[in-house]
Amino acid sequence: MQAQEILQQHNLKKTSPRLAIIEALQSSSAPMAEAEISEKMGSHYDRTTFYRSMLTLEEAGVLHRIIVDKLLVKYALNASGPNGKTQADHAHFFCKECRKLVCLEEIHPGPYRLPAGFQTSEAEVIIRGLCNQCSKQG
Ligand SMILES: [Zn+2]
Ligand SMILES: [Zn+2]
Repeated sequence: MQAQEILQQHNLKKTSPRLAIIEALQSSSAPMAEAEISEKMGSHYDRTTFYRSMLTLEEAGVLHRIIVDKLLVKYALNASGPNGKTQADHAHFFCKECRKLVCLEEIHPGPYRLPAGFQTSEAEVIIRGLCNQCSKQG
C-alpha cells in the first residue's frame, strides 16, 4: 500500500514527514531505529517533528514502537490484518549477536493468568537469543 493510502485509511493528514517516515519503514523488512529512519528521510528529518509524527502514527495504529533497551528503540509498520484492522500485539525477537530485531507476527503475548482483579492493557514481549544466521555460526 502507498504511504498516502495508509494515512488516508487512518484519517490522518498527509504531511511530508509522516509520508517520509512510512516510506522509510516500507523500505526495510526489519524494524528500524531512529538513525536509520532519519537517514532515509533526508531533509524531511527534524528531531521534534520526528517524535511528534511518531507519536501520532503510533496512536493512530499505523506503526508500533519496540523498546529493546534504554538505548535502542525501533519502529515498525503494523501489518494490516483482516478488515483493515492493524495487528500490533505480537512478540519480538532480539538477536544478541547481530542486534537484529524481528517482528514475530504469529506469536502473541498472553493471555496471562493474572491475579484476581488485574487487567492487561498491553504486554510487550521481547525474546532474546541468537537468530537463525548467528546460531549457525556458533
Ligand atoms: Zn543474529
Ligand atoms: Zn513488531
